[in-house]
Amino acid sequence: MRRTILILGGTTEANALAAALAEHPGLRVIVSLAGRTAAPHRPAGEIRSGGFGGADGLAAYLTARAIDQVIDATHPFAARMGWNSAIACTQAAIPLLRLERPAWVAQAGDYWTEIDDWSEAAVLLTAGSRRVLLALGRQELAPFAHLDALWFLIRSVDMPDPLPAFGHSQTLQARGPFTLADECRLLAEYDIDTIVCKNSGGDAAVAKLTAARQMGLRVVMRKRPLRPPTPTATTLAEAIAWLDQPLSPTGLP
Ligand code: NAP
Repeated sequence: MRRTILILGGTTEANALAAALAEHPGLRVIVSLAGRTAAPHRPAGEIRSGGFGGADGLAAYLTARAIDQVIDATHPFAARMGWNSAIACTQAAIPLLRLERPAWVAQAGDYWTEIDDWSEAAVLLTAGSRRVLLALGRQELAPFAHLDALWFLIRSVDMPDPLPAFGHSQTLQARGPFTLADECRLLAEYDIDTIVCKNSGGDAAVAKLTAARQMGLRVVMRKRPLRPPTPTATTLAEAIAWLDQPLSPTGLP
């Protein structure tokens, strides 16, 4: 019998998994998007969009749509969805796997300061930084807007409307992947001395860190938020192997 799989998406991993499963004869795959990005990369196959209404709403959706297995492939910083999916799958007794790219790890030659929240970053910048690349999401900019002694290059996939009132800044709407050559050029052109970003991991946005290492720039790196202890795959192959396991009579692989 065909199984129905829900992928909680919004990431390159979710899109790659949906593409890999598109021709799988034994699976019906639904990809769920939060519906916030103006022009998201659309995954293959069936798509639904918008929040579920918390963990209870998600549990009700899982039951109503007779979902057999869930893969939470949301972004490492989409922590609320991680907790909601863990609670909802427990409530509905549906197997859940987390698909998550490994975090970046500082290497020799890196000059990183790791932080837990953006207010820490704002304090750090006032000591020793002058021209800063904020490589952040549009909802993460406000804690930096009052730092009038600094100049900011604000790079984001979508810009907030209105933009918080920065004293000195320029915006750059851009979506990765970014090449090392382009990142080096950008950082040199704007005379950047510090990059503020979060530890998203993956290949698409790593070039700025390699560039920072080569150019001796400071990086203020936000650590990943705490997630529930869900079984986790880091590769597509592991996720597909999990899906291919037979389900026990309780519904758990
Ligand atoms: P979040 O804080 O974990 O989620 C906030 C709320 O958005 C959730 O409670 C849920 O609403 C809804 N939601 C999130 N992901 C959803 C999904 N895949 N399908 C349906 N509803 C979803 O997440 P976020 O940080 O705002 O990120 C939103 C989306 O953007 C995620 O899907 C994530 O994969 C993607 N994304 C996030 C980042 C980032 O840096 N945070 C970066 C790239 C992509 P309800 O409670 O109503 O169900």
